[in-house]
Amino acid sequence: MLLPRIDTPRCTGCGWCVAACPPHVLSLQADGWRKHSVLHDASGCTGCSQCERRCPFGVISMVKIKKPDQRQA
Ligand code: SF4
Ligand code: SF4
Repeated sequence: MLLPRIDTPRCTGCGWCVAACPPHVLSLQADGWRKHSVLHDASGCTGCSQCERRCPFGVISMVKIKKPDQRQA
């Protein structure tokens, strides 16, 4: 299956991907004074790639994985 990999240091926290995700499995999380996108429910991700397409900064790439990893961020 495909899951989004978020290049956290490059994420601006703009939230476009969060708004674009149909099952709402992405969320913005605070990290000090910054915010970045996190896949908080990998098992709910359908692999639709809409987040990847929506990110204006190319921060998200879809990667193949064997099993959903709940801790992927
Ligand atoms: S691939 Fe689709 S379901 Fe998964 S996080 Fe991105 S927008 Fe959401
Ligand atoms: S759309 Fe891209 S830059 Fe914006 S919060 Fe999502 S991953 Fe980060």
